[in-house]
Amino acid sequence: MDYPTYPDKQPVLSLENVSYSYHTLSGETKALDGISFEVSPGEFLAIVGPSGCGKSTLLNLLAGMIRPVSGRITFHGKDLYEAVRQADIPQIGYMLQHDHLFGWRTIWENVTLGLELKNQMTGANLGYVSSLLEKYGLSEFKGCKPSQLSGGMRQRAALIRTLALNPEILLLDEPFSALDYQTRLSVSGDIGKIIRENNKTAILVTHNLSEAISLADRVIVLTKRPAKIKNMVDISLTITDSSPLGYRSAPEFNRYFNLLWEDLWDEKGIG
Ligand code: ADP
Ligand code: MG
Repeated sequence: MDYPTYPDKQPVLSLENVSYSYHTLSGETKALDGISFEVSPGEFLAIVGPSGCGKSTLLNLLAGMIRPVSGRITFHGKDLYEAVRQADIPQIGYMLQHDHLFGWRTIWENVTLGLELKNQMTGANLGYVSSLLEKYGLSEFKGCKPSQLSGGMRQRAALIRTLALNPEILLLDEPFSALDYQTRLSVSGDIGKIIRENNKTAILVTHNLSEAISLADRVIVLTKRPAKIKNMVDISLTITDSSPLGYRSAPEFNRYFNLLWEDLWDEKGIG
């Protein structure tokens, strides 16, 4: 298989033959097996794979929460696990399926929480957060509690909280799964746009192939557990309208969908 290479850009992230196993009282669960890929600056990568195959484990490794049992992960050429611990401010932001906003804090107090914890409540940083709220339609809800916002607005607030510390990389673990179909469509479009406009490198885990194809530059398909890389597909869509439905009506869309669907179907068919 020919994997794409980016000769003119140094990778932000590089994984070489990464494996990971969980050890519990009932034995060993091998979650990842020999994963290698690179991520270029500004790239939007989507990861799809069967449920339980090891996707969240992979993101936890990329967040530096755990370290590989074997193999190597580097962030700008340095060991990622060490780099995350040496940094004063997180350079890797993590957004999960549930927004994890604190119910007793206002939206403003939620989105500035990271800055508060890191003692970074400077005028410039607070101005940046204000501008994000303004730009993405949440300014007038600054004083509201999360329960007063819709699910889609809460996910946007959660993303702004993650962006507040200006991380270089965003990891998103099925961030839209709890939303209904229509909200999901518009929020995933909004969030894709916010990530691109702010020049972030992003890695999105999703169950939803349409979402992966419409948001990402490249999709990695994982096998069932222990996850190996089954396929990597560069996505290039001819679009005339950059709305979520616009991406889905691109002429190439169905071809990518069928290709990825077959890869995933193969994996579901076994064991
Ligand atoms: P995915 O996100 O693709 O659904 P995960 O990465 O969460 O999969 O999990 C991969 C496998 O590792 C699963 O079989 C899961 O049960 C197991 N696993 C995940 N976390 C733990 C843990 N903390 N301890 C033991 N096993 C775990
Ligand atoms: Mg998961």
